Amino acid sequence: MTVETSAILAHNIQRIRESKGLNRNRCAVGAGVGFNTWKGWELQWHSPRTHHLPNIARVLECSVADLFVNDEPPRVKCDCGQWVEDPGLGGKCPKCGRIRVEFDPPLTAD
Ligand SMILES: [Zn+2]
Repeated sequence: MTVETSAILAHNIQRIRESKGLNRNRCAVGAGVGFNTWKGWELQWHSPRTHHLPNIARVLECSVADLFVNDEPPRVKCDCGQWVEDPGLGGKCPKCGRIRVEFDPPLTAD
């Protein structure tokens, strides 16, 4: 799995879950994994193994293909772990309030 594909997958798992109003714990139980495993998928600490994909799709009530769709506006991941719709320079993370001043690293404190 490429880095880009991993990022899309992580992004979609979180996006679809939130769009359905599901919490991580419920999804993790439904997919037969631990809470930290699910959280790690969303935060891109690690990628799901292939055999997990059908279970993820089932608990998110979508198709496996939906997990790999890349039609969202670009997002960046803040240092705090929050996904932020790419706010461009000067944008703020809604979770920790850090201001995005550079592209790489995307967010810096203060
Ligand atoms: Zn943040």
